[in-house]
Formats: sequence, C-alpha cells, structure tokens
Amino acid sequence: THTPSLPLQSARFLKLGKTFYSDVTPVVLTKPYRIALNEELARSLHVPDALISSSHAIPELTGEQISSAQTPVATVYSGHQFGVWAGQLGDGRAMLLGEMTDSEQQRQEIQLKGAGETPYSRRADGRAVLRSSVREYLCSEAMHGLGIPTTRALHLSGSKQYAMREQPETTAIVTRVAPSFIRFGHFEHFYYQGRIDELKQLADFVLQHYYPQCLSAENPYAELLGDVAIRTARLVAQWQASGFMHGVLNTDNMSVLGLTLDYGPFGFMEAFNHDHICNHSDHQGRYSYRNQPAIGQWNVFAFGQTLVPLINSVETTEQALDNYKSAFEQHWQQLCQAKFGLETVQENDANLFNEFFQLLQDHRADFTLSFRTLSHLKNETTTSDDELFALFGGAQALPDWLQRYRERYQTENRNDSERNAAMLAANPKYILRNYLAQIAIEKAQQDDFSEIQRLHRILQNPFAEQPEAEAYASLPPDWAGDLCVSCSS
Ligand code: AMP
Ligand code: MG
Ligand code: MG
Repeated sequence: THTPSLPLQSARFLKLGKTFYSDVTPVVLTKPYRIALNEELARSLHVPDALISSSHAIPELTGEQISSAQTPVATVYSGHQFGVWAGQLGDGRAMLLGEMTDSEQQRQEIQLKGAGETPYSRRADGRAVLRSSVREYLCSEAMHGLGIPTTRALHLSGSKQYAMREQPETTAIVTRVAPSFIRFGHFEHFYYQGRIDELKQLADFVLQHYYPQCLSAENPYAELLGDVAIRTARLVAQWQASGFMHGVLNTDNMSVLGLTLDYGPFGFMEAFNHDHICNHSDHQGRYSYRNQPAIGQWNVFAFGQTLVPLINSVETTEQALDNYKSAFEQHWQQLCQAKFGLETVQENDANLFNEFFQLLQDHRADFTLSFRTLSHLKNETTTSDDELFALFGGAQALPDWLQRYRERYQTENRNDSERNAAMLAANPKYILRNYLAQIAIEKAQQDDFSEIQRLHRILQNPFAEQPEAEAYASLPPDWAGDLCVSCSS
C-alpha cells in the first residue's frame, strides 16, 4: 500500500548557499515509537489524517524516511556563552528537514532535535535524552498556550537506544516547528570572521522573509535591529509576567524572530524569589529571573554589534538599540496593569505593583497561585482574602496592601465580576511546574505516555477553569524542592 507522505518542501534557508550549513544524514534511533503527536499543530500543517491517526512514529518526522527531494542540513552559528565569546557552535544535534505551509499560509521550518551527529557536534553525540525531550515538548506547548511566542513541538518519538549522560539514559527526538530557527549567533558567526558579504546575505534573507515591513525604511538594517530589539523586549516582558526562566540565555539561544528557543534547564517561578536561578550550572546567577531583562538587552546589543557594518552608523545603531529599554518598560507595565486588573495607568501604580512583588518575595508566596487568587478578589472580604493570607504565610502586611489595592481599583469603572474576568484571562491557573514535568517523565521512562498527553491538554488552556484538573494547579509537593535541572541533556 502507498503510505501517505508529508507535504514537505525544500527549506528557503538552503538558498543562502553552502557556507551557511552542512548537509547531514539523520541517524535513525533504534525502533523509534511515537510518544506524542501534537494533533492540532499537525492538522494545521496538513499532515495527512492517516499519519495522524496511526499510533506509530511518523517516519518522515523521525529521520527514518527522507524523500529524494529533501536535503537535511545543520546550520552554522557562533555565540557568546555566559558572556564569553565561544566561537563556532552550530546545530550540534538539530537538523533542518524542510518546510511545510500551515493553515495561515505561513511557511514553517521542520527541525529534528536529537537525530545524531552533525559537523557541529564537537565532542557530543548529537542525541537528546527522553527527559529533556519531554520537557521541550511540553514547555513549547505550555508557552504557546500562555500566548508567549515560541518554537512549537509537533512530534515526540522515543527509543530504547541509550546515550551516556551522568548515567545511561534512553533517547528521543523532538520534531520542532518555527518560521525560522535563525539565532543572533548566526549573525555573530559571520561578523566576527569579517565575512561581511555573507553577513549582508543573511540580513537580506531575514529582511525579505521575516521582516519585509522593514525593507521600505531609509535604513532597513537599522529598522531590522529596532524591530528585533522590540520583539525581544516584549518576549522577555512576557517571560517575567508568567514567571518563566529560560536558564541559558546565550546569544546562540536567542531567536531573531523573538521566539522562546532551545528549552533546556528552564523553570517557572513557584515560591517567589527574584534571584531564583533555574539552571544549576549557572553558579553566578547570570540568567536568574531578576537578570533576564538586562540579559535580553545585553544579547540585543551583541546582535546590534554585528549589524554595524551594514547600518554604517554607530549612532543609528545606538538609536535602534534604545528601543529595547523603552519597549520592555512599556510592555512590562501593560502586562502588570492586566495582571492587576487595572484599565487606567495612575501615578502610584508601579509602587503598588512593586509592593506586591516585595510581599511575594518576603513570604516566598507561589507566583502563579498568588496572582490567580488575587484574580478572585471582591470588594468585600471573601474566602479569597483567606486564601491569599494562607499563600503569604499569614503576612501581617498583606491586609494593608489589599486595602490600598481595593481603593485603587475602585477608582475605575469595572465592577468585581468584570475585573475578575479580565484578571482570570491574564493570570494562568496552570503552568508547567517542574514536578508535573517530572511525573510525566518518570511515567514515560516506564513507557506510560498518558501523563504527557494529559499535561499537554491541560496546558493548552492555562487560563480556563478545568475542574477535573484541579490537582494540577496546586502547590508543589515537598519532594519538588530537590529537583535539579542542568544543561547536559
Ligand atoms: P545549548 O546551549 O544547549 O543550546 O547548546 C550549545 C551548543 O552545544 C550548540 O551548538 C548545541 O548544538 C550543542 N549541543 C548541545 N548538546 C549537544 C549534543 N548532545 N550533541 C551535539 N551537540 C550538542
Ligand atoms: Mg542552543
Ligand atoms: Mg540545545
């Protein structure tokens, strides 16, 4: 019988030419099986029904089946890691398979992560373990559910084939999707070698396909930088507002499209501590929650540096970079207004918000539950007050803050139910807590993939009340405090 095939087209990236990538051949995992398929995304990419409804791994999404028209490639990039120039890195375990067109007529690149060595693997094996692949699959879709720009996860396949880490672990492949996986590091790669022709070619490619609105500007490269700065600033503001910490914000993990990219030792804030470090290899806390906005700016500056030869004016470059700070502050303020349910901006709002963050900090209150519970607050005292009081460990200062908060929102026209509804749409109930991912991983390690499906489904609608999933919104259990996440996965 004829197996239906995927509508995969050659990726436009290949037109850049061979100095931008190397041809690679996926090395298939032993007897791969399907762990999860993102059905909604698969349908939007026109994956044939027969492939969706099958329970097997989709051979064209695991590297098992490569059509003659396809040329898998690994792209070359460099980057700054932990603030230090690291030279050439590149797709050490990612392979670009091609592109598909989604239901909105957008072309989407399809990438395998973990399909074996590439010329950029250095001393590593090109593999990804099940643990980190489940985390990437679930978090990509959790971020999408929260409305935060991200690469997507289409397919997760597993195998009994082992890779060596601190201990042997079974391997997996995430098939991920984004309009482009171009990173700040792609630009740095050519800039730091003085290869300005290729740098220009790359910038023109990004302008043409992803920032066409910049082409008509007086200086399209400066316009591109300004827009990348804004997108990055808005992205980081969204991370801060949802308590997401990326963990490894090196320039090679920064998307030129402003997408959350390369899920590693990420984490969501639970007991609030603005100095929280989610990556246990980040000893200095360079990528702590508090530092993310400044690091986003540092990275945008590193990107801007590469465009100086094209912009041809340091002053114009600096002007474009100024966008970051103003866009971050503006967007953060907007997100806070929404989180606190305020329609207008008043003089003292920032102080009121900061006092709440300080209370969260002082009492290590759970970030997500605190905002969610605040979203149920009424003018008169209800059980929400008690619940908040409990979340803040009986904080003496909370009632005083609540009184000032009530006085503040009563200056607006919204009634309780209107404000509550608006806040419930801004403050999620369900996030990918580390321990939830851990339970799904441990079940998957026993070949039970049902928890991955369940979590994926819940996290698709993180703002909705889901009575059957109440337990997934509760505080982490005590054992969760000992979970340790690092880069090597
Ligand atoms: P990261 O900071 O984890 O995104 O990765 C930094 C660099 O290491 C990139 O060039 C990756 O492709 C590469 N890398 C990470 N893990 C592996 C692996 N298991 N095999 C090959 N390359 C890897
Ligand atoms: Mg990376
Ligand atoms: Mg990586």
